[in-house]
Amino acid sequence: MTTWLLLLAAPLALLWVTLLSWSRREELRRMRAGRAEQEQARARGTDRARLQYPAVDLSRCIGCGICIEACPEEGVLELVHGQAVVAHGSRCVGHGKCAEECPVGAIAVTLGDLSQRRDIPVLEPSHESPHTPGLFLAGEVTGFALIRTAVEHGRMVAREVARKLESLPPVEDPGVLDLLIVGAGPAGLTCALEARERGLRFAVVEQDSLGGTIAHYPRRKLVMTQPVQLPLHGRLARSEYEKEELVALWEDLATEHDLPLQTQTRFEGVERDEDGVLGVRTSAGRFRARTVCLALGRRGTPRRLGVEGEDLPKVASSLIDAQSYRGRRVLVVGGGDSAVEAALGLAEQPGNQVSLSYRGQAFTRLKARNEGRLEAAARAGKLELLLGSQVQRISTDAVKLAVGEDGRRLTLPNDEVFVLIGGEPPFALLERCGVSLDPADRLPPPVEDEDPSLVRGLALASLVALAAAAFAFAYQGYFRTPLAERPLHPEHDLLRPAQGMGLVLGALASLLVLANLAYLVRRSQALPLTFGSLRAWMTVHVATGIGALLLALLHGGLVPRDTSGGHALWGLAVLVLTGAIGRWLYALVPRAANGRELQLDEVRDRLAQLSGNWAGSHRAFGERLEAEVGRLVDDIRWSGGLGQRLAALLIGRRRAHRHLRDLAATGRREGVPAEEVDAGLVLARGAFDAALAASRYEELRGLLGSWRYLHRWVAVAMVLLVLAHIVTATRYADLRWPWSEGVLP
Ligand SMILES: Cc1cc2nc3c(=O)[nH]c(=O)nc-3n(C[C@H](O)[C@H](O)[C@H](O)COP(=O)(O)OP(=O)(O)OC[C@H]3O[C@@H](n4cnc5c(N)ncnc54)[C@H](O)[C@@H]3O)c2cc1C
Repeated sequence: MTTWLLLLAAPLALLWVTLLSWSRREELRRMRAGRAEQEQARARGTDRARLQYPAVDLSRCIGCGICIEACPEEGVLELVHGQAVVAHGSRCVGHGKCAEECPVGAIAVTLGDLSQRRDIPVLEPSHESPHTPGLFLAGEVTGFALIRTAVEHGRMVAREVARKLESLPPVEDPGVLDLLIVGAGPAGLTCALEARERGLRFAVVEQDSLGGTIAHYPRRKLVMTQPVQLPLHGRLARSEYEKEELVALWEDLATEHDLPLQTQTRFEGVERDEDGVLGVRTSAGRFRARTVCLALGRRGTPRRLGVEGEDLPKVASSLIDAQSYRGRRVLVVGGGDSAVEAALGLAEQPGNQVSLSYRGQAFTRLKARNEGRLEAAARAGKLELLLGSQVQRISTDAVKLAVGEDGRRLTLPNDEVFVLIGGEPPFALLERCGVSLDPADRLPPPVEDEDPSLVRGLALASLVALAAAAFAFAYQGYFRTPLAERPLHPEHDLLRPAQGMGLVLGALASLLVLANLAYLVRRSQALPLTFGSLRAWMTVHVATGIGALLLALLHGGLVPRDTSGGHALWGLAVLVLTGAIGRWLYALVPRAANGRELQLDEVRDRLAQLSGNWAGSHRAFGERLEAEVGRLVDDIRWSGGLGQRLAALLIGRRRAHRHLRDLAATGRREGVPAEEVDAGLVLARGAFDAALAASRYEELRGLLGSWRYLHRWVAVAMVLLVLAHIVTATRYADLRWPWSEGVLP
């Protein structure tokens, strides 16, 4: 038997190692690309978020990559060193899918580092301004984008207002509103619907028309949203709507519920009157209200170029319907997604000649999809890109621009100009209303507790373990009896695997295995099954895995036999072990690797700084040193096969240090002062050592990372063995349940 096992194990092990080294190569290739993406994003400044930001807790991340698959935008997150890191933070629009789907709760979509930001209002959790009681904010003005969030905020504020007013003495003056809502976008309109449902006396003022930002989307734009609950309407269950559908829905709701909406009315400020009521100034006169909800969005007033001719009728600050422009000579100004989408839309219309003017030298804030489409359109000559250009003057049939560093003049024949350079944000207005944007006023973020999915999973598993231990203890007489003597034991009929309680335990273990596998179905992003949160399923996965093992052990009488059932039990044990490695141990190593990566970045920065301070031939030496460090570091980190990498890890240090010493000697011979050479050498060695340490952790992580394959394949083998066990047992064994005649004493 042992010989047979060895014969089988040897080729399997070889196959295993081959597969591992192949997959490791692939992983390193992907990781190198991910790292390059991250560096590129850093260089272009697109690693920073505009609003929300996925913050990854590396102490929890298990590197499953679900967040990357779940994110509808491209390149926001990448896997580096087996953990998720933010690459293009500016592409995050706050869908929050990564946080929702992360099975271990390692991601939170936050506003990033708030300590430096002066564009996020300071608010109570109820969204009331702590400095101006009665003044609430809702929607994108708070810093959180997305329609779903705006809707949630609008609802919450109306509820808070209703709750607050209940505790205040009533105001008899019929001219005083309970609530004045500013802005008729998704946040303001939802707030109005909830206020109507709660019977509040309210009004809505809007400087433009109903619909907010949505009304300004391009024609037939597909709006992605997540299911939301609208007051007095119900659930918006679809994930995609056309812009026109959404605007029509808002209009219908406003009419049906007779919302007191005053459009073309601009909010100008708020102050407290002597009687404590809030006095609201608008372009259409003064309102008095006990509370105010500012649902202003962040677009504010469209930004202007400040050039002659900007007020001509052919100049617009938004494009709603590209199809209504054909055979026109069009200039689009701007470098964001709105400008690029408008230019692309216009370029697709027959007969249009489209130019896109942007003052920057490269588009750094675009969604990946727009970046690709823009490049393709420019290559195909569908539109002209004028990078580094500034509009100087607009006339009825032309536009004058200054292009490039030398300010070369260019005159474009022109029929239409779209200035899509964003809006003047409403922050100054907010501050005048008493809303603080000062980071010093912000409360420190709450400290995150332990991963609850893990704690809950373990708590559930502990309960099963306790019950199993109690059961084993109660029947210890039977379980302590040697296998050969058990048939004579009085409890044999009750506890043997094919009968009574023993059989029930086996059936329960199989059910737990089934429940355990349901996690895989739920986590597959390819299947449209999104029942329950993945975190809850992770809890179930942990608890059912451990529970199934314990019940199967009791089912087998605490002695795994040499049968398909016994082998399935061993499989289950390996599965629980590899699961534990993946869930806990695996997360520890990447943290160490990431820490060394940070150290490496720091040392390399210092080296670059040092050589940047040198002059003439000394600088050339510094640059050679930097380049050499880069090459050595890349050699050990990403390149070569398994053997080469192992050799680099084991003996690379001495070789690299010798190499750097030789380089230093050359530097000295070239006349670089000894202290500069020494300082450079120390940093170069430091950088190499940090890279070496990061690589060692990385290889260890790669090795531990193989648990994932082991975990999966053992799971497949275990399921097959369980099936074989069930089939054999039902065909050949005389199965008798406790309720079968004569089983229970
Ligand atoms: C091009 C683009 C595409 C987008 N695509 C999506 C998407 O697919 N899915 C998604 O979920 N989100 C998307 N968003 C984001 C989404 O549109 C916003 O998050 C959402 O509209 C915010 O709603 P809001 O009510 O807070 O603000 P807004 O919709 O901006 O509404 C604010 C309202 O306040 C009014 N207002 C402002 N100042 C004043 C004043 N002083 N006086 C009176 N009224 C004032 C404005 O005129 C406006 O009507 C997109 C945004 C853009 C720009």
